[in-house]
Amino acid sequence: MPLYADVIIDISTEKLDRPFSYRVPEELKESVHEGAEVKVPFGAGNRERKGYVVGFSEKPAVDESRIKDILSVDESSVSAEAKLLSLASWMHRRYGSTMINSLQTVLPVKKKIKEKSFKNYCRNKGEAEIRAEIASLNPVRFAGRIRMLNALLIADVIPGDIAVSKFSLSPSVAQTLEKQGFIKVETTRQYRNPVAADFSLSSLRSIDLTDEQKLVVKGVKEELGKTDRRPCLIQGVTGSGKTEVYMELIRDVVSKGKQAIVLIPEIALTFQTLMRFYAVFGDRVSVIHSKLSPGERYDQYERALNGNIDIMIGPRSALFTPFKNTGLIVIDEEHETSYKSEKMPKYHAREVAEYIAAREGAGLVMGSATPSVESSYKARQGIYAYFKLENRFGDAVLPTVHIVDMRKELKSGNKSFLSRELSNAISERLIKGEQTMLFINRRGVAGFISCRSCGYVMKCPHCDVSMTEHADGRVVCHYCGHTIRKPEICPECGSRYISGFKAGTEAVEAGLKKMYPSARVIRMDADTTKEKDGHEKLLSLFADEKADIMVGTQMIVKGHDFPNVTLVGAIAADISLFSSDYHSPERTFDLLTQAAGRAGRGDRAGEVFIQTYDPEHYALKAAADQDYERFYKEEIIYRKLGDYPPLMHVLLLEFYSKDKQAGELRAGLMAERAKGREGIAVLGPAPAAISRIRDIYRTGLYFKSADIDKLTEIKDQAEALQAQFMEAHSGPDVTLQFDFDPVENF
Ligand code: ADP
Ligand code: ZN
Ligand code: ZN
Repeated sequence: MPLYADVIIDISTEKLDRPFSYRVPEELKESVHEGAEVKVPFGAGNRERKGYVVGFSEKPAVDESRIKDILSVDESSVSAEAKLLSLASWMHRRYGSTMINSLQTVLPVKKKIKEKSFKNYCRNKGEAEIRAEIASLNPVRFAGRIRMLNALLIADVIPGDIAVSKFSLSPSVAQTLEKQGFIKVETTRQYRNPVAADFSLSSLRSIDLTDEQKLVVKGVKEELGKTDRRPCLIQGVTGSGKTEVYMELIRDVVSKGKQAIVLIPEIALTFQTLMRFYAVFGDRVSVIHSKLSPGERYDQYERALNGNIDIMIGPRSALFTPFKNTGLIVIDEEHETSYKSEKMPKYHAREVAEYIAAREGAGLVMGSATPSVESSYKARQGIYAYFKLENRFGDAVLPTVHIVDMRKELKSGNKSFLSRELSNAISERLIKGEQTMLFINRRGVAGFISCRSCGYVMKCPHCDVSMTEHADGRVVCHYCGHTIRKPEICPECGSRYISGFKAGTEAVEAGLKKMYPSARVIRMDADTTKEKDGHEKLLSLFADEKADIMVGTQMIVKGHDFPNVTLVGAIAADISLFSSDYHSPERTFDLLTQAAGRAGRGDRAGEVFIQTYDPEHYALKAAADQDYERFYKEEIIYRKLGDYPPLMHVLLLEFYSKDKQAGELRAGLMAERAKGREGIAVLGPAPAAISRIRDIYRTGLYFKSADIDKLTEIKDQAEALQAQFMEAHSGPDVTLQFDFDPVENF
């Protein structure tokens, strides 16, 4: 009986985004499996194409005579778990991407890389015989053999790499010794272990949790033990022991023979974090991240598949670890935006984790000191179970936070980027030999227009967002398209000091070097951390107190502990407040709260200075008081007023085209089609915040609804329409991407 395979063809166009039926020839029946990579003839010219097998059937989907044979199977392709294929298909429907893109997302390693194996040379004859052999050999001609035989008198087993490096063992000598029966060669498969080749543990660490931590562990376990278990959200200040709680929960899951996936933001994935897990779970733990070699990545995938590890740590892609029986998914720092994919399918790790957890009967635990407004809202609605850790472990003290009004600085003649208060504080630290961290929020730097005299910020009269300055002198609202010319003077106070805010880390670094010629200043931003270990190098330089001041973007405030840092300054705290994105206050609050947590970690109390042109802003004031509750209460009101998530869902349709009008036209058409539907608001189309990148014009069209299913319908409709256009091939190409509840400005 012939067998038919459903094959997704590796062409990223919507038009071909469905499985095609192929006959599996008799000789390939053994090797074609679900997820296999195959070659098939495709299209009019029967061109050879790559594809993935996503299913089988006994009956062909179309007329038997039109069906072609699979040409070959790539035997080295990794057999994908059927689970991953169905996950890809769910993501394809949920987020609106091509099936190929979804497959490529969930199948992280597509090619088998040559396996690494490793040899041990074991002594196979008695001492006397070996000594006799040594005595009988010509010491000059057989020096190599003698060296190795002498080594065998000391050790029973000599690892291959040592035999080569220390005793210069050559393949021919090894062969001879093996033939003569002096050694036995044992070969074992060696997985590349990215965690630590030279890290050895005398014993695994065990933890005594505090009473507060125990209570949370107990509560989470109870929740996860229920059949209708909910995702759990743990809100705990930095240093309250969230990681210890995760590890205890993981220990429990692993003891039941299940596995755990731990997501952390890539930037927090430091050697120290790994070592903490390693110290508790030993080499049953592994890691996957973007800096691993393909071979290392492939091996971690295999280790998970073969039950060689129980715990996988990594950024969002670690969700696709092919464990046999995932029992727990942990998302640390769940508010981080890096959990949202910026490529199609634009999935959020939180949502995918919820889906996987529900499907596999696994638990989902999320933690943060400053939970996302979305998750907090769900916790308050009872959709998530909610737990709190209120005390820092040990008796770390909270720092004192000062808000500095930069408008007053300007009034009294200080035009520098440093306020007098902050600059005095820096001098004080330099004298005492303590360290300072200064950061600039880079998000939205090329952006909003403000008055440095009165703090006025240009906002769109139709939307509650700030307007963005364009190079040609226009000022545009990116939500509704409203455009005006850039004013010469502040409409509020008449001052000429109105301009787009520009202050880079480089400028600050240069300024500091001028003001404090003897201070050792280092800068950490995207430019200085390009090379592979650039990040770690700068951090360890600072940790070793080889620098007095570290200047950087927000990346410097995330999760690093330097006991000698007693001063943290936010140079321009409000840059992110007025970028035209409703997430701005939340990002600012998170960032400042985290930054404050960086000061005074040792026994000395820290000080934090927040420089701002808007000292009354609720996000700044709440951050200064480290008061999440107050921030949330205020923020959720703004979200309600603006019809933003979590109260509403947003679907963004992104149109990309070389032809400006074609994109706008297509967007307009889709807006037209969707109009008049109940419970859906249509906004736009309007040019994107960056309206052209590499000569591709970008147009955005927004839909809002409280009901995600309604937005999914819009997406389906847009997909169908888009497919028609592709089919018709009329006019210039316009590509379409979907982004549900976007976390970045488009
Ligand atoms: P969080 O993840 O909430 O920031 P951590 O788990 O990193 O907190 O804890 C902060 C520090 O306190 C870590 O060095 C951790 O090892 C230590 N710590 C927390 N709880 C305990 C505990 N019960 N026993 C020993 N050390 C603890
Ligand atoms: Zn003004
Ligand atoms: Zn507007």
